[in-house]
Amino acid sequence: MIKNLLHKITICVVKSLSWAIKALKTGSGTNLPGKIARKLSPDILSFLVKQTKKEIITITGTNGKTTTAGLLASVFREDGRKIVHNSRGANMLTGITATAIENSSIKADMTSDNCIFEIDEAYLNLAFNEFNPHIIAVTNLFRDQLDRYGELNATAKKIESAIAKTSVIEPLKLILNADDPLVSMIGNNFSDADLNKIFYGFEEIIHQNSEEKIYSPQESINCKCGKPFSYLKIFYGHLGYYECSCGVKRPATKVFAKAYIGVNSSNILVKTLDNQEFTVNINLPGLYNCYNALSAVTAALEAEISIKNIQKGIENYATTFGRSETLKIKGKDVIIQLIKNPIGATEVLKTVKNDDKGKLFIVINDNYADGRDVSWLWDANFELLANYNKPAVISGTRAADMALRLKYAGLDSKNLIVSENIKSAFLEALGNVNADEKLYVLPTYTALLELEKIKKNNWQ
Ligand SMILES: [Zn+2]
Repeated sequence: MIKNLLHKITICVVKSLSWAIKALKTGSGTNLPGKIARKLSPDILSFLVKQTKKEIITITGTNGKTTTAGLLASVFREDGRKIVHNSRGANMLTGITATAIENSSIKADMTSDNCIFEIDEAYLNLAFNEFNPHIIAVTNLFRDQLDRYGELNATAKKIESAIAKTSVIEPLKLILNADDPLVSMIGNNFSDADLNKIFYGFEEIIHQNSEEKIYSPQESINCKCGKPFSYLKIFYGHLGYYECSCGVKRPATKVFAKAYIGVNSSNILVKTLDNQEFTVNINLPGLYNCYNALSAVTAALEAEISIKNIQKGIENYATTFGRSETLKIKGKDVIIQLIKNPIGATEVLKTVKNDDKGKLFIVINDNYADGRDVSWLWDANFELLANYNKPAVISGTRAADMALRLKYAGLDSKNLIVSENIKSAFLEALGNVNADEKLYVLPTYTALLELEKIKKNNWQ
């Protein structure tokens, strides 16, 4: 009784605080309310999430968490479900707690059908101390922010130790990208009674521009036995059809697809082991978003959502700021796509390369949340832009490094406009874009947050 009262008080305090933050416009404010709530009632997240009527779904992995969770949320809404979803990419415990409180009444009721949480790989362990998921989807594991989380295998192990904490009556459904060997090997040591592994992957990738597959930075990935994998097909990075002489190979998939990749949209022909076949249109650029969509499709099928609602939900998905979102700013089309590691960035550059009407604005910061080390810029395939013959504006704390990288990629230095101030650089880049052209904005994480602030100020 006293406990329940404490939860109610916490929710009232935090809700008022959130309103105050919004009223004062002091930025996104997603961390502070969650922090305070957890101080006042340490078990508040657990208390609220336990009220969920159906599946609790978590999405983790290096790239594509926000988009995959967003696509899935759109599908669940199409199905008429009431969901709780941390849509703004606040994927640590404080952000998830704030989301739960936002969705609860002051009586401490959170009456939702489903929770869809994207969770940072390193926080999964802590999250599962507080609630049990029914479905976990893992998108991919790439080299990203190594200074924070260490090596890739260590990340896979973190996910496994988080899974070991869960306890549900039904076996936990683990949805894994079969094309990523680091992901597909997760959970090999668990029994079928504890874990139901469901694999998805692509059979074939058809690019509108057939030369695409050549360009992708390669990562050498070792099998658990220590030998490097050999590949029959590579789709991008270390994703593809792999095998090792010890017998480990890409597992058979329950959900498999063919992708047809266009410039700013794609579609996938999905098939399942139980003979379902359907097409999903994705209004987002690039192969990486086809992977996000296939991951969401697989999770939705496991939650028994109809094919019609899956198709509609994905087609109608409205993007989160900075995740392939197309905006109209001062009458011009602007596409903002976060970049944070070589392989993800290379996939984005392919879209820019294929768009004759596209101009570039790149913003590279090296704050803590970006990763302090920007040497990854040298591993991303900026050579894709070698024939880019238009002005490109470059900004952020590491604008000079970015400009140098582009020079080495073969861009004419007289086309490169370097300006550290993000706002004035953005306005200049936008000014260079003609009415029939598009501006591609490629920011790192904290640069994206700065752009969001400029957006709140009506791009002034
Ligand atoms: Zn092996």
